[in-house]
Amino acid sequence: MADFFDVIVIGGGPAGYPAAIRAGQNRLTVACIDEWRNRDGSYAFGGTCLNAGCIPSKALLESTELYHRAREEFAVHGIKMEGVSVDVAQMQKRKAGIVKASTQGILALFKGAGVTALQGHGKLLSGRRVEFTAADGAKRELTAKHVILASGSVPVELKCAPFKAPHIIDSQGALELDSVPKRLGVIGAGVIGLELGSVWRRLGSEVTVLEALPEFLAIADQQLAKEAARHFKKQGLDIRLGAKVTGARVAGDAVEVAYEDAKGAHSLSVDRLIVAAGRRPYSADLLADGTGVELDEHGFIKVDQHCRTAVEGVWAVGDCVRGPMLAHKGKEEGVMTADLIAGRFGEVNYKTVPSVIYTAPEIAWVGQTEEQVKSSGRPYKVGVFPFLASGRARAMEQAQGFAKIVAARDDDEILGVHIVGPMAGELIAEAVLAMEYSASTEDLQRTIHAHPTLSEAVHEAALAADKRAIDSLNR
Ligand code: FAD
Ligand code: AMP
Repeated sequence: MADFFDVIVIGGGPAGYPAAIRAGQNRLTVACIDEWRNRDGSYAFGGTCLNAGCIPSKALLESTELYHRAREEFAVHGIKMEGVSVDVAQMQKRKAGIVKASTQGILALFKGAGVTALQGHGKLLSGRRVEFTAADGAKRELTAKHVILASGSVPVELKCAPFKAPHIIDSQGALELDSVPKRLGVIGAGVIGLELGSVWRRLGSEVTVLEALPEFLAIADQQLAKEAARHFKKQGLDIRLGAKVTGARVAGDAVEVAYEDAKGAHSLSVDRLIVAAGRRPYSADLLADGTGVELDEHGFIKVDQHCRTAVEGVWAVGDCVRGPMLAHKGKEEGVMTADLIAGRFGEVNYKTVPSVIYTAPEIAWVGQTEEQVKSSGRPYKVGVFPFLASGRARAMEQAQGFAKIVAARDDDEILGVHIVGPMAGELIAEAVLAMEYSASTEDLQRTIHAHPTLSEAVHEAALAADKRAIDSLNR
């Protein structure tokens, strides 16, 4: 193996591995170093996303949604099911198979793009040298013209509720439970807390979610958040807002959780407690003294808008730098960086990074919330279309939620799109594309949408912004 590369990427998650592949496509010599190890000690590319995040969580959300629908919704279709039961071991086996196929797929992609895959630890030394430590402890010094840092993030551990498996667990532990806890506590009603809470709620756990903030989904459009909260309540998710956890201790086979809200101090007894209180950037043993790469006060690697660090030829992408901790944001940064290194054009439009919560109904948005537009002072209009009026949603027995468009009154520019309803995560792609091209609501209004599809809800929401929706009452 060569000791010199045009590019070395440290971290093989959804930010690092696309950077390596694009560098290979750009005919640069490239190595990608990753140290992720499974519980059995085996190495796997793909980082948090493929091994313990996006993919396994979506696999379990899919399985549990099917189980829930079979039990609760098939009867209305005239499908009679008796004795529906769940085999958690098989559900977990299916999930593990999907993860394995996905992570092994990266090795095949690396081969195709000419990327040298190195499994072990990478550490940036000064002068764009990288120390690589293999599984057996053997060290080698590599040199590169460019180094891309993509070391990702890890779950936040709360001082008041330190991890203590199997009782007090992080999101990875929550994806690996081998049986359904009777009483499940979740700290944090963010994306991860809601998705994992939904998985186990659908399988029968009594789920209590404790959220310190007084507002539900404070980062989302509040009309969207209210609609979502209504559905979660109906599903039996007990979400307590303004509830700050102050302590958690294992007592026998239970966890005693202490929390405070406006009414005072409370306690809650659960069988398992998931701490989903956010993630923090990870850079342990990544930077040797004297590299010149700087971290901010929260531990993020400091970069400019093109992911350049303060050191010539050293870049950083993904969860270890500022911006939303999302796989697709990291992927675009990785690709941009590898293109800029090759002298090509590269840019990430941070204004059009979509957010998706894969609950039922799904929640997705892009751009500004109505609250943000309002406080900006720019005159705006809003179009809302309920899925209740969508023929396809009704045929699917999923006529819940709505699509909402917020647009400028002056030039009709689409400023934000917010969807809660069936397949919202897929529908948002049209809105992202529209905003990427600075589309107006009129552009969407004049675009043909196939009938009957869920995408008609986005079309009708654009029409509703001018009170010209056909299939709803334009209220
Ligand atoms: P990571 O995926 O964390 O990868 C970093 C990699 O670098 C790891 O393999 C790590 O071992 C390796 N590494 C670190 N330091 C070194 C070193 N010094 N040497 C060698 N290797 C090193 N995002 C979405 O967009 N959609 C979702 O649906 C979604 N669902 C999620 C569900 C859960 C339960 C969780 C926990 C996260 C979810 N996320 C989701 C977030 C998403 O997983 C992250 O945003 C994404 O993985 C970040 O990618 P990354 O490449 O920056 O970092
Ligand atoms: P996110 O950052 O989207 O993953 O969400 C994490 C959530 O956890 C945030 O909404 C935080 O307000 C919440 N959180 C963090 N610490 C606590 C705590 N001690 N008690 C309750 N909620 C918390």
